[in-house]
Amino acid sequence: MTEVKVQVTNLIKNFGNNQVLKDINVTVQANEVVVIIGPSGSGKSTFLRTLNRLETPTSGSIVIDGVDIAEPHANLNQVRENIGMVFQHFNLFKNLSVAQNIMLAPQELQNKSTEQAQEQAQHLLTTVGLADKLNASVQSLSGGQQQRVAIARALAMNPDIMLFDEPTSALDPEMVGDVLAVMKKLAQQGMTMIVVTHEMGFAKEVADRVLFFDQGQILEEGTPTAIFDHPQNPRLQEFLDKVL
Ligand code: ADP
Ligand code: MG
Repeated sequence: MTEVKVQVTNLIKNFGNNQVLKDINVTVQANEVVVIIGPSGSGKSTFLRTLNRLETPTSGSIVIDGVDIAEPHANLNQVRENIGMVFQHFNLFKNLSVAQNIMLAPQELQNKSTEQAQEQAQHLLTTVGLADKLNASVQSLSGGQQQRVAIARALAMNPDIMLFDEPTSALDPEMVGDVLAVMKKLAQQGMTMIVVTHEMGFAKEVADRVLFFDQGQILEEGTPTAIFDHPQNPRLQEFLDKVL
């Protein structure tokens, strides 16, 4: 039995005269890991941002768990509680501790007690390999550790979909593996994930499906084998020649 988690239909996003997303159609099933690749400026970030309404779609529909979040009256808080997002630049609160970063939303939005929130934070930090960092300051952590805290913070709301926008692009090379390992573990646990990344090894190993974005369109999609070993579109071939 498959269950549709995300159904994007005829999605268009304009910034002024610039059409950044041109009729995007994507279906994501529960437990699926979809990796998005493509050149800079092709609309990958804008696409992810429309999925949790950090950007308002110009037209089209985005049905997530049966609710069209592209509707003007969509309940955005509910949308964002169900969808966790991890950014390139972590976006942690630098002046708060690791624990405070993770506990903030569950306490504010889900009325968790301090005790419950802290217990959950400790559990999540163990999941991301940072069990001993509960009371650390964010600034004392490496970039890779901060990104794993950002993942823990997103998971604290119990999202059923996780969006990752180039989560390892700002990291020193030696930190990348730890973050990808956490993402792989999440995938293995059945999390539905949409991941924008230039880590082609991760895409090959973890993705169920790869989408190639180019100039606001999905030019090709398929299994990792189809995309990486048998690319059809010349623009995809050209892109892969540059990044592989
Ligand atoms: P990618 O993530 O694939 O590099 P983006 O989605 O960031 O691409 O950007 C796609 C296009 O949209 C680019 O031309 C970019 O300049 C434009 N764009 C993105 N965000 C905005 C914005 N807030 N206002 C105007 N233009 C934007
Ligand atoms: Mg981007």
